[in-house]
Amino acid sequence: MGMSIAIVSQKGGVGKTTLAANLAAAFAELTFKTLLVEVDPQGSLIRSFGMDRFDLHHGLFGCITAGLPPAEAVEHDLRPNLELLPANVWSHEEELAYLDAMKSDPLALRSVVRELQSDYDYVLLDCPPALGPMTRSALAAADRYLVPVQAEVMNLATLPRVQLLADDVRLAHNPGLRFEGYALTMLDTRTRHAQTVADRLREEHPDEVLQTAIPRSIRVAEESEKGRPTVIGAARNRAGLAFQALAEEILARHARERTEGEPEAALADRSTNALPAWERVLDELPTDAEESVPTPGNGDNPHRWDMD
Ligand code: ATP
Ligand code: MG
Repeated sequence: MGMSIAIVSQKGGVGKTTLAANLAAAFAELTFKTLLVEVDPQGSLIRSFGMDRFDLHHGLFGCITAGLPPAEAVEHDLRPNLELLPANVWSHEEELAYLDAMKSDPLALRSVVRELQSDYDYVLLDCPPALGPMTRSALAAADRYLVPVQAEVMNLATLPRVQLLADDVRLAHNPGLRFEGYALTMLDTRTRHAQTVADRLREEHPDEVLQTAIPRSIRVAEESEKGRPTVIGAARNRAGLAFQALAEEILARHARERTEGEPEAALADRSTNALPAWERVLDELPTDAEESVPTPGNGDNPHRWDMD
């Protein structure tokens, strides 16, 4: 069974969709079979892969409102190891029906995700900029949630509300829901303000902020216009490198969690080939992977978040 991660924020335009697309593309490049689920009906996730409504056959809308089998709604030909379940919501009436379906059954999305999850190593859910029924359904469906934070004071003020919603969802539907962490996005390292806010977030949540920060870079928007994630189109750009490093940081952490949770004897019995894909990555990363992720001010690190 793969792991599902909802990408959640109350604030709009903080880089949720860009993060979902880039993490998914990076996981897929590292041979982890990944499914992107477009919970947000704005249609921006499909556009970030150069698709529009006429490229789609079905979508989550059909699964949630009309009982379409989830496997029939998946678009398979995105990239190697990468598949997409689009929202496929295009009119105001459809959006209302989609919202109503999630409101009346907060576990409808979970049924869809659970049905597909065993075919993938990772399922990433791109949520809308609100803490309403769609985000609630995504939290009820996911194993974990990741919160992108654009380094602005206004954005920090919304963070406790995400955590309150997650607490509520844990109690009502999903006791196993875990917090993956805060991911700093669109960090403009030229402004003192952004640095101060990023430092404050790290101080207030020392164990909850992922080390890799995504810098603001014009290449992200340029690549998105071309219909491809930055990790694919501009892989050597500092934002492309940072997305790659963030994906590796998350994978390395999951692999560590898995091995730490198992008795030593069981680990010793395993041959490398028997390891599931998300553990194999430890063999593929440098042994000092933990140290090699970007950290502020690390002058030797090629992914350094404050590099030019
Ligand atoms: P919404 O709340 O509307 O769903 P979102 O949180 O999903 O928005 P995105 O759509 O990912 O945010 O990003 C908003 C805009 O910022 C897009 O134009 C995107 O190309 C741009 N963007 C995202 N990340 C970066 C970055 N690191 N550097 C520069 N631009 C970025
Ligand atoms: Mg979005």
